[in-house]
Amino acid sequence: MTRVPVRDDLSTLEGYHSPQVTVDVRLNTNEAPVGPPMAFREALAVEMSRIDWNRYPDRAATTLRTAIGALHGVGPDQIFVANGSNEVLQTVLLTFAGPGRTVATFEPTYQLHGHIARITGATVVEGERAADFSIDMSEVRRVVSQSRPHVTFLCSPNNPTGGVDAPSVVRDVLALAPGLLVVDEAYGQFAGWSAVGLIDEKTPLVVSRTFSKTWSMAASRLGYLVGPRWLVAELDKVVLPYHLDTVKQIAGTLAVRFLDEMNERVRAIVAERERVMSALRVLELDVFDSGANFVLFRPRNMGGRAVWQGLLDHSVLIRDCSSWPRLDDCLRVTIGTPAEDDRFLSAITEVLS
Ligand SMILES: *Cc1c(COP(=O)(O)O)cnc(C)c1O
Repeated sequence: MTRVPVRDDLSTLEGYHSPQVTVDVRLNTNEAPVGPPMAFREALAVEMSRIDWNRYPDRAATTLRTAIGALHGVGPDQIFVANGSNEVLQTVLLTFAGPGRTVATFEPTYQLHGHIARITGATVVEGERAADFSIDMSEVRRVVSQSRPHVTFLCSPNNPTGGVDAPSVVRDVLALAPGLLVVDEAYGQFAGWSAVGLIDEKTPLVVSRTFSKTWSMAASRLGYLVGPRWLVAELDKVVLPYHLDTVKQIAGTLAVRFLDEMNERVRAIVAERERVMSALRVLELDVFDSGANFVLFRPRNMGGRAVWQGLLDHSVLIRDCSSWPRLDDCLRVTIGTPAEDDRFLSAITEVLS
């Protein structure tokens, strides 16, 4: 058997790594610690039994888009839905980036922004964040004037650092960026404000969201963006026909009926986050502010990798960012249930002592 060469520009590409290890306490992928309500499961089972399996799904996913639009006070023509917000971002990049075009990110940020952009054939320009991982406007000015990016990414709250961009930051970047601004709000519900309010037909801004985190639906792979109508219409031309299966359309439509329950889960996780951060601040760690459902921290007197391994020996899995560029020795822990967080806190206290 002979191997055929992959595209030249992909030959040095590395895959996306996030180890799935079997442990007692899994706090490494920012999932919700509990599932959606039982009433959701029951309603979904009933709807599933009625599916016309011989028929293609509703290609426009109108019912789902209408339900999601209602969450944001917009119509279905301002909502684009896909298989996870990663596919939403991929469709945006296929439409507005690609070969000969430039995409700007501000690092460290969500690895998949640059990764997916490169797969579309675009050139990625990496700007730097400030030492506290906030957006540095002079750096934005430099990157934007030198590279004239077709697509610029912000991520608020930023994964993996946790910080929220102020409204003035998003407005200022919008004023400077020559192309499309994408604000990834995968953790938007945990933060105090959303850039969705800045969207209108004349503004080249989209905001992406996911069902994987706050909606407790990571198993379903469902994400969406809110944007101008003209832009959503362009994305609809690029995405594969019937890309969103009927099961997922039903699951998403039912999920948003349980908005109050979702908000209650968010409230509980935010309270847990504050408790975990206070407990971590007492230890020999630098803890970064977070507006998300995870916390980034750096041990002061031990290597990050050693702390991560020590936690794993206690059957607690968190995310090891210690070898990522600009994140030397940093670790990221997802907020879990109070019992899981207690297991994590007692394990890290032992590991550090
Ligand atoms: C988890 C995450 C996503 C999620 O993606 P899905 O494909 O919807 O699961 C997107 N952006 C960021 C910053 C994330 O952390």
